[in-house]
Amino acid sequence: MTVPVDHDLIRAAAHVARTRCRGDNHTMAAAGRARDGRIITAVNAYHFTGGPCAELVLVGTAAAQGAYELDTIVAVGDRDRGVVPPCGRCRQVLLDYFPGLRVIVGSGDRLRAVPVAELLPESYVWADHQLDSD
Ligand SMILES: [Zn+2]
Repeated sequence: MTVPVDHDLIRAAAHVARTRCRGDNHTMAAAGRARDGRIITAVNAYHFTGGPCAELVLVGTAAAQGAYELDTIVAVGDRDRGVVPPCGRCRQVLLDYFPGLRVIVGSGDRLRAVPVAELLPESYVWADHQLDSD
């Protein structure tokens, strides 16, 4: 099923990437569309010990604003790099937090919003392996 691409979301991430990314610490921006329609934005916090990607900062930022459900997410690189697909760690985290999430990937007329599960085939689903507590 093809879902229309949320161009407002891409523009929001691109704006943050262009205006807020500075030097080597902040090189990526992410924007998420919350279930209630709000757009939440964030940037990565690079550190050699494993500082979080923009997508992961976004998960916390959204929660801090009371947005616990995200429908769509996109990441855009600084220096006009355009849409950047999530790394492997982010794919796993996003799948576990938001199984129904769509992720915008691709570029130009190949931009598309794909289910996060399609980015991680045969994936490990953390929730499926937790012991029932009842
Ligand atoms: Zn990542």
